[in-house]
Amino acid sequence: MRFSKLRLTGFKSFVDPTDLVISDGLTGVVGPNGCGKSNLLEALRWVMGENRPKSMRGGGMEDVIFAGANSRGARNFAEVSLQIDNTERLAPSGFNESDNLEIVRRITRDVGSAYKANTKDVRARDVQMLFADASTGAHSPALVSQGQIAVLISAKPKARRRILEEAAGISGLYQRRHEAELK
Ligand code: ATP
Ligand code: MG
Repeated sequence: MRFSKLRLTGFKSFVDPTDLVISDGLTGVVGPNGCGKSNLLEALRWVMGENRPKSMRGGGMEDVIFAGANSRGARNFAEVSLQIDNTERLAPSGFNESDNLEIVRRITRDVGSAYKANTKDVRARDVQMLFADASTGAHSPALVSQGQIAVLISAKPKARRRILEEAAGISGLYQRRHEAELK
């Protein structure tokens, strides 16, 4: 599975639909302080099912919705779409019917989040599992936020172990075992 495009609409500072094309090789995003570089990484984390407002630098999940600036009014929803190249058919079953997989998450004020996979409604858990199994999940060490290296160095062993488990691609298994034990 290879990410090929990220589209943001009404997400944080990206009020108008904005595409980030992710080509082969290295993609760099440069710009002055406050232009939205970190917001792009947060959009990626969010569409993969992130539900902790703190890791989105907000107080509540609705803080990701464009809050208004200068002459532009606040929006009522935020949407992020992630296009995934699945020509190698490595997506888990249930997500593996086509060469292109599009995951969309939308949050509407006072309503909450809804997810779609190739236009079909899916649950948050399905999306979180998809990315946890692919070792790119919202908690994945593949996403390194500003200041996170310092956090990793000073983390307690238990917290550090969770990060290593996600890197090893086994956190999806732990989640399933936990759910089985609750049943
Ligand atoms: P730096 O180089 O300092 O790390 P950056 O390019 O990473 O900067 P971001 O932190 O991604 O910048 O963007 C911050 C900008 O996003 C701020 O101007 C902030 O006002 C804006 N912003 C964040 N949340 C929202 C929101 N909900 N609505 C509108 N603007 C927002
Ligand atoms: Mg930043």
